[in-house]
Amino acid sequence: MSSLAVLHASQLITLAGPKRPRIGQEMPDLAAIRNGGMLICDGEIDIVGTSDEIEKKAGDADIVDAGGRVVLPGFVDAHTHLVFAGNRLDDFERRARGEIYEQIAKAGGGIWSTVEKTRAASEADLFAQAKKHAQWFLGCGTTTVEAKSGYGLTVPDELKILRVIQRLNSPRQAPDVIRESRITSTAAQREAAQQEAARQEAAGLEIVPTFLGAHAIPRGMRPDEYVDLVINEMLPRVATEELAEFCDVFCERGYFDIEQSRKILTAAKKLGLNLRGHVDQLTNSSGAKLLSELNATTADHLEKTDEQGIAALKAANVQPVLLPGSVYALGSTSYPRAREMIDAGLAVVIATDFNPGSSPTPSMPMILSLACTQMKMSPAEAITASTINAAYSLNRGDRIGSLEPGKLANFAIFDCEDYRELAYWFGFPQTHSVYVRGERAFP
Ligand SMILES: [Zn+2]
Repeated sequence: MSSLAVLHASQLITLAGPKRPRIGQEMPDLAAIRNGGMLICDGEIDIVGTSDEIEKKAGDADIVDAGGRVVLPGFVDAHTHLVFAGNRLDDFERRARGEIYEQIAKAGGGIWSTVEKTRAASEADLFAQAKKHAQWFLGCGTTTVEAKSGYGLTVPDELKILRVIQRLNSPRQAPDVIRESRITSTAAQREAAQQEAARQEAAGLEIVPTFLGAHAIPRGMRPDEYVDLVINEMLPRVATEELAEFCDVFCERGYFDIEQSRKILTAAKKLGLNLRGHVDQLTNSSGAKLLSELNATTADHLEKTDEQGIAALKAANVQPVLLPGSVYALGSTSYPRAREMIDAGLAVVIATDFNPGSSPTPSMPMILSLACTQMKMSPAEAITASTINAAYSLNRGDRIGSLEPGKLANFAIFDCEDYRELAYWFGFPQTHSVYVRGERAFP
């Protein structure tokens, strides 16, 4: 038994509350404890209370003195494209000069340039770059991310990306559990050594894998030919090898239309995958309605979703995942209607959309800033949207996203006294330290 006592948080932002995503007037309720603390045993939260109460029960626990800083559950980033090769610096510069997407694509940029680099990269190279990205997330206070494939667009390259995600993920079995099981046989010793090697290799960040083979139609293929490849070859492999929990589609003009998206998502659902979708980003193509019909877990982007789309999401209990970082980085002002969604009773989530083309940021605090300044969410609503609501959108609301007894001790300490400072100061990191399952993961 290893125990840890966190003491002297100016505000311990617990987000304790009903065991479901938060809606409407529940969203600004952070259940903060002034001068808070918590006791952690074997990576799980045991007791939450005031610092004085925890100190009395701490026994011989190791002490983490938050020193009057804010303590939050680790951010849960429910939409990222974590694994890719290279960057899109040339596109970035061209866009700054005023060029539009078509000109950039003609000059060899756009998503296709990332696909070519990702296909050319070895699994080891992709792993090294993704591990660096994972460190960036931890450094911003994020302890869980969803990560999509989608820059391979062939069977082997999509599987390569999903395997990188699998390797980056922390192994389920903790090494001390193995030690305690009194290993005698050499096979068990070998297995323990492999587990330890996997633990050393893992990024510290917990990663939820999503298959996004339908991210774009590869050059030289007809759309229907590629849809067939996704359904008949990619999806069965992904499901059999258990490489993803979710299936996602980029439903947009020039990518996958409503009918193609419906075909792919329906096939994925039959194989037991849960559904997410990139919809209504550039045009309102009734993507929100499609995802509602299919009972998807989330509908992501929604910049162009109207009242009918919002009503459809509400009727089917689909969680919207809003991505203001991509609106900002593309130089657009067309943010999704967050206020209307909250007023309609949707369990709103915000995420970074970390990717090399349209949202090159791993920073959830930057997303909090954009949520408040551009989408008129309150700082408290933005924190709920990036922790407990995001956890439920990844089917992990019972394990992460709040600081409550029985949950994993994933938390971040920020160098400020009031949680609102996280959204208020912007453009620099306020992270003091980050813990995953009670172990220090950053710095
Ligand atoms: Zn995306």
